[in-house]
Parts: sequence; C-alpha cells; structure tokens
Amino acid sequence: MLHGRNALVTGATSGIGLAVAETLARSGANVVINGLGEPAANQTLCAGLARRYGVRVSLNAADLRDPAQIEAMIAEATAEFGGIDILINNAGIQHVSPVESFPVDKWNDILALNLTAAFHTTRLVVPQMKDKGWGRIINMGSAHSLIASPFKSAYVAAKHGINGFTKSVALELAQHGITANTVCPGYVLTPLVEKQIPDTMAARGLTEEQVIRDVLLAAQPTKQFVSVQEIADSVLFLCSDAARSITGTSLSIDGGWTTQ
Ligand code: NAD
Repeated sequence: MLHGRNALVTGATSGIGLAVAETLARSGANVVINGLGEPAANQTLCAGLARRYGVRVSLNAADLRDPAQIEAMIAEATAEFGGIDILINNAGIQHVSPVESFPVDKWNDILALNLTAAFHTTRLVVPQMKDKGWGRIINMGSAHSLIASPFKSAYVAAKHGINGFTKSVALELAQHGITANTVCPGYVLTPLVEKQIPDTMAARGLTEEQVIRDVLLAAQPTKQFVSVQEIADSVLFLCSDAARSITGTSLSIDGGWTTQ
C-alpha cells in the first residue's frame, strides 16, 4: 500500500513509534527511524526491519529538542531517500509534578520535544510534499490534547498545542494533497507510562496498584490499556488514500476516556 513512499517516524526506537515504524515498513514504505537509546541496538533494530520487510530503514539519533539537529536529520533523510512523504511526529516525554515545583528545564524540554519539534519537521518537509502534491503529516497527540489531568501542566499544554498546530497546518495544505491529523491515544502501556507510575505514586501518595487502577485505568471506560498496534493501524489508515479527505481532525483511541 505504501510502496515507493518514504516515512520519517520520530521517537521510533520504543513504544508507539516503533510499532508505527514497523507497520509502515510492513506496508512497503522506506522508513527513517529517529530516536534515542543505545546506537548498536537501534542499528540492529533497523537492520531487522529492513530485512523482514524488504524496505530501506535508516537510523537517525537527532535530539529533537535541538532545531539544528532536526534540520540536519531532514537534510540527511532527504539526501538518502530523496524526500519525505509521510511525517509522523511521535517523539514525546512526560513529567509529573505540581505546577509550583515543576522543574523549569522539564517544562522547556517537554514543550521543545512534544510541540516545537513538530513545527520544525513540518516546516522542513512541507516544501517537498508540495512539490509532489502528496503528503501525510500525523502528529501524536493524546487524550491530554482534549482534556487535562493534574500535575501534567507541561504535557497537557504541549498536547493541546499540537492539536491547534495540526488544524492550522491542515488548512494551509488542504489544496496540496497533503493531510495533517492528530492521533490521540488514551493510556498505552509503554515505557513512557511505566516511568510515570513512580512519580504519580509520589505526587498523590498512592501505591503502584492504586495508580494503575485508580488513576490510569480509572479514566478509561474499557478498563484496558490501548495497544501500540491499535495506534499503528490507525496511523496506517490515515496514510492511505481512503483517508485523503480526513484532515485537520483528531482521532481519539482512548477506550472512551474523553467521551465522558
Ligand atoms: P516511549 O517512551 O516508549 O518512546 C518515546 C520515544 O521518543 C523513544 O523512541 C525515545 O527515544 C524518543 N525520544 C525521547 N526523547 C527524545 C529526544 N529528545 N529526541 C528524539 N527522540 C526522543 O513513549 P510512547 O509511550 O511510545 O510515546 C510516544 C508518543 O505517544 C509520545 O508523544 C506520547 O506523548 C504519546 N502518547 C503516549 C501515550 C501512552 O499512554 N503511552 C498516551 C498518549 C500519547
């Protein structure tokens, strides 16, 4: 379905991004995998995907908090693949803290990675997409793009921001064959969620079991974590021609959380 397309997936060395990258590769796209982590393990990961699906897969370890590294990543991907057709802005981090003691550097990191990085990647790939008259931009939002939770002020601000950014870009690109949408997952059990359990225990004075039951899954009417594959399959649909008229919208995959 995506043969001949080139995709860049940020934050694809773990969790949701990795599932998205694998799903796009399985569908025939060449993929640039951006993300942090142990370089040798990430190279092995890329080689495995390339071998399994017969596509080109390359690793880019740009730290997306730094606009200069984003520019270098896009330049490198363009030189290697001849352009990016599918941009998945997925990389994200979380920090849980009361606002009055929220570390300023954490605030800046979350805004830089979860929001501003998508601005930079988008502004850099849009000219290529316009030239081709085709493109897909999918930004990883969250249930927290639509509603808030306490102690997550930076994350909620960034995730609300990405929804607004996506809508604006969708309008600008609507007549160029380029769609821009936000996918808004509920709780998906990835390292990002696993890491915030201890912080939430500390912030709210709860046990681990209480955090999972009373904080995380309390919000999700299905009482089940969303799987990374469910998110990846929705991203794949948004990349398809069947989704060519879906733009500027946000797709909630949250077990009914935000409908309450
Ligand atoms: P994860 O921690 O499993 O993966 C995060 C990825 O981002 C990793 O590949 C990591 O290397 C990369 N990354 C971190 N800092 C980076 C940096 N400075 N530069 C480049 N890459 C960096 O997280 P996840 O749960 O898969 O989250 C992926 C996205 O989904 C995030 O935007 C997150 O906000 C969103 N999301 C997650 C959930 C959830 O429940 N897990 C729910 C809603 C939204």
